[in-house]
Amino acid sequence: MIRTKVLVVGGGPGGYVAAIRAGQLGLETVLVEADRLGGTCLVRGCIPSKALIHAAGKFDDMRGCVGDGTIGIALREAPTIDLNRTVLWKEGIVDRLTGGVGVLLRKAKVRVIEGWATFCDAKTCTVRTREGVEVIRAEHVILANGSTPASLPGLAFGGPVISSTEALMLARVPDRLVVVGAGYIGLELGTAFRKLGSEVTVVEARERILPNWDEPLTNPVRRWLERAGVMLHLGAAVEMVELSEGAAAARVRTRDGVTVSLAADQVLVTVGRRPLTNGWGMEAMAIDMAGPFVRIDDRCRTSMRDVWAIGDLVGEPMLAHKASAQGEMVAELIGGARRRFDPMAIPAVCFTDPEIVSVGLGPEDAGSAGTDLIVSQFPFAANGRALSMAAGDDGGFVRVVARADDHRVLGIQAVGTHVSELVGEFTLAIEMGALLEDVAGTIHAHPTLTEAFHEASMRGLGRAIHI
Ligand code: FAD
Ligand code: NAD
Repeated sequence: MIRTKVLVVGGGPGGYVAAIRAGQLGLETVLVEADRLGGTCLVRGCIPSKALIHAAGKFDDMRGCVGDGTIGIALREAPTIDLNRTVLWKEGIVDRLTGGVGVLLRKAKVRVIEGWATFCDAKTCTVRTREGVEVIRAEHVILANGSTPASLPGLAFGGPVISSTEALMLARVPDRLVVVGAGYIGLELGTAFRKLGSEVTVVEARERILPNWDEPLTNPVRRWLERAGVMLHLGAAVEMVELSEGAAAARVRTRDGVTVSLAADQVLVTVGRRPLTNGWGMEAMAIDMAGPFVRIDDRCRTSMRDVWAIGDLVGEPMLAHKASAQGEMVAELIGGARRRFDPMAIPAVCFTDPEIVSVGLGPEDAGSAGTDLIVSQFPFAANGRALSMAAGDDGGFVRVVARADDHRVLGIQAVGTHVSELVGEFTLAIEMGALLEDVAGTIHAHPTLTEAFHEASMRGLGRAIHI
């Protein structure tokens, strides 16, 4: 039997960060991972999807240069894509990152055990490894089992019906792709495949795309999709996928109650993710649930003493940086620190075209709390850097939401090309309790997109210069 101070289950961005920090603190730590280090994020999520999005963007830009070319760059022939090689390139990035996680774990003296952990009580699990069965008993257990793609009745994964995992490993670009769900994954990958040349149809149950984001932020994305010829069925449902003679067709019930049949090489189902709570003996641990998630308090403690849970397993937002922040905190708590998980804001970024970011409260959230607000916006159409990168005409903007009485910034949102890289400054401003005057009084380098944040804040104070 292996006895250890800390046992971490799951090597995703929650688990591996918890294990590295625990090891750094000198706590004897074992990490069990059944698949590859890095978890969903590194192996089949954040990183592979962003690599595909990058490749698709490059390909699309090159296609835009065929013929006259808009900015004086012309290609005589259309570019070609060998998706197999793109996927190999993406795998190279994944290998490099997962290898790096392994090195960091070794450096922190964390023992990594490859295999599936099954618990028989709250502090003991067995792992079937290549060498045999290991029994591990720990003083502290950190559960970071993550999540898996949700499926729909009548649309079980298999054959042409795929999840994001398979979509990131396709050997060729599908001619016709039906995407079910216009959330993060559906639109990030749907956009990428459209840029790679697929005919893309998106079927969304709600009445608009990205329904969890406010509408003004999503309008530029909707306009891009329409311009790019992506067919949108909103307020619609896919009832089933029919197969006949090797060809697939998705039967869609539209918002008017009409049924249409859409031929598809692949049907990509992206209707959310479910916490992984089955198949590893959670029921033997006697921990309480909060709906489908493991219930935790503000220190990520479960209802069982010294059993902690983090990341996608414990609820929304199901984002890698939230998982990592919780993991780092739990390791510190086990090491004796006094901490709580109480961030002012957890940033969210959607890597569509254009990109969307949101930190803190939107105008509707803040307004519904009865607070008088200053909401001010600055368009990228008036930002020199955006125009010089041909990114000023996509309807993008930065929006700042501040309390009217003391000018405290409560939320910052943006939509536009490359805005994902602005999110650090936005989050820092909110975490540090910035006032509009603080942002206005900070010199922002020219020419950069961050000047739009500066100008939006100046505008909120009634003294914008460039609008
Ligand atoms: P996971 O990363 O899911 O890791 C859990 C690990 O635990 C897995 O490796 C699994 O094999 C292992 N495991 C589970 N049970 C056991 C067991 N019993 N024994 C051994 N091992 C076990 N988030 C972002 O912030 N930004 C993005 O851009 C982004 N893009 C995404 C794109 C896609 C296509 C997807 C699918 C997700 C994306 N996410 C993104 C979400 C992000 O991947 C997750 O929020 C994050 O990976 C959650 O981390 P985690 O550590 O909680 O779990
Ligand atoms: P999501 O929650 O973002 O979107 C799911 C969409 O499917 C919603 O718009 C929902 O209304 C729709 N839907 C639900 N049931 C449906 C049905 N029967 N028919 C049609 N539409 C239906 O989920 P996702 O895109 O699968 O992503 C899962 C999670 O992964 C996200 O919530 C996010 O936490 C994470 N993620 C993050 C990023 C990022 O940070 N950039 C990228 C990808 C994934």
